[in-house]
Amino acid sequence: MTRAWVEIDLGAMCRNGAAVAARAGVPLLPMVKADAYGLGALRAALALDALDPWGFGVATVTEGDELRRGGITRPIIVFTPILRNEIDALRRADLTPALGDPAVIESWTRTGRPWHLQVDTGMGRAGMRWDQVAEYRELFARSRPEGVFTHFHSAELDDASRDEQEARFDAAIAALPERPPLVHAENGPAVERRAPSRWSLCRPGIFLYGVPGFDGGAITPEPVAAIRARIVELRTVEDGETVSYDATWRAEGRRRIATVPVGYADGYRRGLSSRGTALLSGARIPVAGRVTMDMTMFDVTDTDAALGDLVTLLGQDRDDLITVGDLAAAAELSPYELLTGLRLRLPRRYRTGGLPESAT
Ligand SMILES: *Cc1c(COP(=O)(O)O)cnc(C)c1O
Repeated sequence: MTRAWVEIDLGAMCRNGAAVAARAGVPLLPMVKADAYGLGALRAALALDALDPWGFGVATVTEGDELRRGGITRPIIVFTPILRNEIDALRRADLTPALGDPAVIESWTRTGRPWHLQVDTGMGRAGMRWDQVAEYRELFARSRPEGVFTHFHSAELDDASRDEQEARFDAAIAALPERPPLVHAENGPAVERRAPSRWSLCRPGIFLYGVPGFDGGAITPEPVAAIRARIVELRTVEDGETVSYDATWRAEGRRRIATVPVGYADGYRRGLSSRGTALLSGARIPVAGRVTMDMTMFDVTDTDAALGDLVTLLGQDRDDLITVGDLAAAAELSPYELLTGLRLRLPRRYRTGGLPESAT
């Protein structure tokens, strides 16, 4: 019997993807990097394939290779800069690089395969600076990119930085010898903020996995991930007794404590010590003391908790919901960190109800 697992609702993931595509009015390039933000890249890609996306986005050659081996045949873009000695591996796996370095572009051009030009319009992370594109016009005339793209650094905010980045991106595109067939810029939060898209593809990530970029957006994702675990021990602690490492939690009166076999080595982060809450039969139960590597204790005094009962550490239980945002805030993490921090020791259970018929 599995005592603790991550539950992933692929139907909800697809509905979230469909909501982004409908709002943007352009095909998706779903970002399934970092193992689909911790939820399983191949399962995510196979499910999202039913939405007829243009292709998929990953961060590394290994991630792209995994999708190819799993049967994904659409284009796959590797979104981190590649080194020249990775070119062969990209070719073998039929992956498309995102390039910004002129020397690497020269080398890649010899493969005769498609590539996308990454333009840095202010992120300061990867890609050719927008104001250098004109300098390499001759290179781009010889080696025409299939796509050109940029990335917003603060899409979730409603500030002027996006307009500035868009203006720089427009200038970079105008400096190319011709407009590439594919132009893309928006992550999920950028689509939530503004629609329809001005470009030809959009690149949502976290929205697909059930997390909005900000509160009150025009579209809201359905939750996708849940963490569930069974109570493996129950004890009573007397007034003044402590629970867990460093004895930071002390019972006020007689308390009942449930031990759940999930800890920080599963991605239930230590920052949730005495701060997180979970759901048990519709009640909220607080974490008692430090989260440990393999186990976390909850104060279940006001419940009728029994051994084997199911605790929801993340996600929906009856009418209540602990969102990724809630749990991340309690742990003082970004939702991105919390999701990508889920570890494979927790087996994944996929719910496939509600998937589009063509999904695999
Ligand atoms: C991760 C990433 C995205 C997706 O971002 P979200 O905020 O998760 O929607 C889009 N584009 C690039 C280049 C990325 O690295």
